[in-house]
Amino acid sequence: MNSPATDSASRQATRVVILGAGMSGLCMAIQLRKVGIEDYIILEKQPGVGGTWWDNVYPGAHVDIPAPAYSFSFEPNPHWTRRFASAPEIQAYMQRCAEKHAVLPKVRFGTRITRARFDAESGDWLIDTDRGPGVRARFFVCSTGPLSQIRFPDIPGLAEFRGTLLHSARWDPDHDLAGQRVAVIGTGSTASQLVAPIARRAARLHVFQRTANWVLPRLDRPYNALDRLLARFPPYSALVRQAWVALLEFGRRGFDEGTLARRAMLRTAEAHLRRQVADQALRAKLRPAYPLGCKRIIYSNDFYPSLSRPNVELVTEPIARISPSGIVTADGRERPLDVLVCATGFDVQHALGSLAIAGIGGRTLREAWAEGPEAHLGVTVSGFPNLFLMLGPNTATGHTSTLLYIEPEVRYAIACMQRVVAGGQRWIDVRPEVQRASNARLQQRLAGSVWTQCRSWYRADNGKVIALFPGFTREYQAMLRQPDFAEYTFG
Ligand code: NAP
Repeated sequence: MNSPATDSASRQATRVVILGAGMSGLCMAIQLRKVGIEDYIILEKQPGVGGTWWDNVYPGAHVDIPAPAYSFSFEPNPHWTRRFASAPEIQAYMQRCAEKHAVLPKVRFGTRITRARFDAESGDWLIDTDRGPGVRARFFVCSTGPLSQIRFPDIPGLAEFRGTLLHSARWDPDHDLAGQRVAVIGTGSTASQLVAPIARRAARLHVFQRTANWVLPRLDRPYNALDRLLARFPPYSALVRQAWVALLEFGRRGFDEGTLARRAMLRTAEAHLRRQVADQALRAKLRPAYPLGCKRIIYSNDFYPSLSRPNVELVTEPIARISPSGIVTADGRERPLDVLVCATGFDVQHALGSLAIAGIGGRTLREAWAEGPEAHLGVTVSGFPNLFLMLGPNTATGHTSTLLYIEPEVRYAIACMQRVVAGGQRWIDVRPEVQRASNARLQQRLAGSVWTQCRSWYRADNGKVIALFPGFTREYQAMLRQPDFAEYTFG
């Protein structure tokens, strides 16, 4: 172990370290520059920017929010080619943003953090990486996103499978599925996007569904030359963005029992299923048995039709095990496979806690979050001074664009940083009783909500809803407009 003096000397010193070059990391970098803080480093494990949009290159990957609302408010994109943009288009948008705002030279690509600890004496974070020297930074921004740690299913025999095993977020674009026998495990948002393109290519596709989900039509359309021309005029693009944001916000009402929005969504989902699936038995298998909105709603026009193709089978018999050559269901039948695709999502509960991040007294996030992740307003965690989470606990949304949450979080975190610097202090830490009270209010609101009525990545193993913010986006934005510094201690 290095002595403190050697340790300090060998580290690169900077004002801010940002972990991850996805949407929130980029937004933070751009906004830091706007307030005159150019002294930052981004650590990114991948060789390029994009975060989830770098990782998710499975066939058919696209955003399920209209793209005008999935662009930064300060950086409209006149290049979208369709309303629901594809993953490569979004990654290209992010690349352009990074280039325009001179972010790229600040990114250390291909670098993972191995450990981060808060040094109470200096008020700095000491961050070790698997490449190059460690970093010393006053402020530490964790913008790894909730969907960064992939999850394989806990099915016996998975490790013994001899064919090609793929996870949707670790796709191998060079693996051609033409003529192959393929299985997809999962029928969530991701699976609903990749099933149709795989069905068009594979010889045979078995889709293993454990839970049928709610599917609504995707109101997609290509953007033509006139759309793209108009999008170059800031007042027009701002208006289009605002209109989508308002419409999506109305969709939040759909999560509450008895609302007009909910009745409309239920009717639309049933009509969509009837229109797209003629076979009564298949339709019955696809009808969800949990309340709409409990899991992420799927917006798709090609998922249902692809299940009716002659080369596609929807399997609802539970999976018993995976053999070296295929999947064996509970009825003893084996389906032989060349490729097994796990569209089984992400480990949201343990993603951040799995990073070795230690705050005051060496207490790790994993220890602090033994009962499930929690933060104040999703951004600050008591006992972890000068640490700011982006899209932290209870800031996900089931109805609108995450960018509407990222931008206020970035502003809030920067206001905290500026306060520390202006006050000549070393650190800022949210008071434990403030964090406890804000989370008690949050959990009280979530109790009995639609999100408690099924299993999903929104919840921890103990059932606590750890991912979702229960209210309207405007409520969250209002809460973050200005930090209340009485809620914090300084040192
Ligand atoms: P997910 O919603 O967690 O779905 C995982 C699927 O795998 C579920 O159908 C689940 O079934 C199934 N599964 C998991 N373990 C299984 C097992 N042991 N046996 C059988 N089935 C199993 O993951 P996702 O589809 O990757 O989506 C995650 C989130 O990513 C979405 O909610 C969304 O927020 C985001 N996403 C966004 C976009 C976008 O366009 N913005 C696109 C894709 C994804 P159960 O339901 O029974 O657990």
